[in-house]
Amino acid sequence: MKNNMKHNEKSPCSVKITPVPEFITCPKCGGEIELWSDEYLTSCFYCGHQVFKKENIIH
Ligand SMILES: [Zn+2]
Repeated sequence: MKNNMKHNEKSPCSVKITPVPEFITCPKCGGEIELWSDEYLTSCFYCGHQVFKKENIIH
């Protein structure tokens, strides 16, 4: 039996998905907003309007 576990070693199994920025359009002012993939809500940089990622989904 071996015990190779170390605190400082990163296991490939435990690596989180790296969030990536997405660009969405503000429905209020049309400005381009950067929204990270691990976020679902952000505020427009230009007008302060709160933009949900799900607003972009068309039913
Ligand atoms: Zn806006």
